Order: sequence, then structure tokens, then C-alpha cells
Amino acid sequence: MEEQLLQMICNQRFIKGHPDTWLWKDDDDEVFSVKSAYYKLQGNFVEEEDKVFHMLWNTKVTPKAQFLGWRISLDKLPTKDNLIVRGVQLQHNLCELCQVSAESVDHLFSSCRVAQKVWNLCDNWLGVSSVHHFKARENFKHFSIINLNTRQNSIWRGMWLAIVEEIWKHRNWVIFKQRKVDPDEIFGLAQVIAWVWMKHKISSVNFSYSDWVFSPLSCLKSL
Ligand SMILES: [Zn+2]
Repeated sequence: MEEQLLQMICNQRFIKGHPDTWLWKDDDDEVFSVKSAYYKLQGNFVEEEDKVFHMLWNTKVTPKAQFLGWRISLDKLPTKDNLIVRGVQLQHNLCELCQVSAESVDHLFSSCRVAQKVWNLCDNWLGVSSVHHFKARENFKHFSIINLNTRQNSIWRGMWLAIVEEIWKHRNWVIFKQRKVDPDEIFGLAQVIAWVWMKHKISSVNFSYSDWVFSPLSCLKSL
């Protein structure tokens, strides 16, 4: 927020012959107030949030998966960092998938080496290489394919939700069922679940699961 405020302050015009003075263009009387700055920044945030929610609600997945995406984007999941803030006593705050870094939404779904392996498997599957953002919300926003249209990319974002749903499920299996960490399993299950969602939610889907696995781009372009 400080950075945004600084940007707003620096983005000023200079008028020749006028004494230097501060004019705050976001308030009617052009006087700076914390209130008007707050509303200005809050407005940007709401706009940004609206964009993410709009993208989430346009996916063709289950409401449960959309709800998970919504909780991730607002950092509302009971990850260890959030539990500690709420006063929950834990044995340790380490991520269960890598056992190296503290568990947070951004770590678990984006920067964790296990999550990175899963996103890389997804890139290899498509035959592309991309840099994945370390913030989960940004990762979602940029999860699109350049030669797909808007509708096809909305459907493609279902794959993002399938991956995060499987990461979350896998993390819980590791904690509560002592399962072995397996990024290939996470990705394989995400491929299945994304195909099942498409099959049930989109009437024009006429490709098989093996078509989906062997040529995902052709399948998406057919929608
Ligand atoms: Zn980790």
C-alpha cells in the first residue's frame, strides 16, 4: 500500500508560473486526507478483487473448487501461518510437502519446490515454459494460454483450480494419513478432475480422457 501511495504522490503535473502546492485530485476540494487516500486505495483493491472473482466465477468447475480458489485469493485457508496468528499451538510451522519453509498460502501453492514441480509438469504437458509467480493469487491471474480465446482460457483456469485442490488434498493426506509426497500423483489427479469437470459442465465436450491427456491444447481449442 505504501508503494501505491508513493506512486500516486509522484504522478503529479507541474504548472509553470504557479507556486508549488499539493492538490489531491481524488477529493472534491483537492485537499489530501487519509480518508480519501484510503478510499482511493480501497477502490483499487476492490477492482483488483473483482477481477479475480470474475475470473473465478467464470470457470467451469464445482462451487467447492471455486470456493477454495476464493479462500486462496483472500488468504483465508487454515494454513499453518494463519493458524499460528489465531493462537493455535502447532508442533512446527513447516510446510508438510517440503519440510523446509514455513507454510503459507503463497508458499504451499506457488513457491514450494513440490508445487513448482507440479506447475512444471503442467507446462511440460502443454509444451510451454513459463515463470510461475510466487504469489498464489498472481499465479491464478496469469494462468492463461496465449493462443486461446477468452472463453477457452476461462475453461483452462479450471486446471489451475484442479491443481490447487489436489495440492491441498495431498497436504492433508500427508498430515492426517501419513501419505508420501508425490508431485506426479498430484498432477495426474488434477488432470483427471479437470477433465471430469469439463465433461459435466460443458455440453460441447466431445473428447475423451486420453485425448485430453495426449493433446490438451487441441481439446481446449475445440471448445
Ligand atoms: Zn513447501
